[in-house]
Amino acid sequence: MIEITFLGSGGGRFITITQFRSTGGFHIRASRNMHVDPGPGALVRAWRYKLDPRKLDAIFVSHRHVDHCNDLEVMVEAMTGGALKKRGTLIASKSVVYGDETHTPAVSKYHMDVLESIHIPEPGSKIALGDEELVITPSLHSDPSTIGFRMRTRYGDVSYIPDTAYFDELLDWHDGSRLLIAAVTRPRDMGIPYHLSTDDIVIMLKKMREKPEALVMSHVGMKMHFANPYKEARYVENVTGVKTYVAKEGFRLMMGKEEIAVRTLRPARFV
Ligand SMILES: [Zn+2]
Repeated sequence: MIEITFLGSGGGRFITITQFRSTGGFHIRASRNMHVDPGPGALVRAWRYKLDPRKLDAIFVSHRHVDHCNDLEVMVEAMTGGALKKRGTLIASKSVVYGDETHTPAVSKYHMDVLESIHIPEPGSKIALGDEELVITPSLHSDPSTIGFRMRTRYGDVSYIPDTAYFDELLDWHDGSRLLIAAVTRPRDMGIPYHLSTDDIVIMLKKMREKPEALVMSHVGMKMHFANPYKEARYVENVTGVKTYVAKEGFRLMMGKEEIAVRTLRPARFV
């Protein structure tokens, strides 16, 4: 059973600074535990949904924008038992580890030194994670080193398409995945450069030879939030026939031999 729990669904600067939707990324529990895109609030949300970050084996960061990497260092500290054990794997874009023209690295040397391994893969690279394998996929984003993945599991593949413009090559990488998680930032007729809109995801699903069993729309931007992402999801489902969900904190998918099941978790109480 592969279990995916969202710790937020927000994306873009305005949703992030207002926290209209939380921005903690998501957690995949398979033969290993991996946190994906630990944006602001990832650590707090992980505890809120009882996903002990000390049990992480890997952290994946698609790119060096703060809504994706803000909590990276503190998650590394959790994964390494307070930076006391050399443990865990970081898989991240070049910009996250080295920085780029506009951003410093998102992870210090101190934190890198306690990791067991660091991968800065190019599209096409394959990384083994227990019984699963990550195939790194490309993106066309304002951070040019942005990466996504297609995780091969015994129950089918899970694709993650982070911030990107639509380009046909995405089909070559993600066609036939069983579950597709995509950063659909903008609603219909309101596309912006370097991000997917509802229109883009519809084009993509229509062009797929083998459509996914389910799509999860995440990285909801402010315009999408107010356009009603649930309405957008219903539209996608109606025109493509693909079961479509909108991520939110506490939203969990369970992918085993049976049809993909979903539930929404209650947050744990804080003292
Ligand atoms: Zn971005």
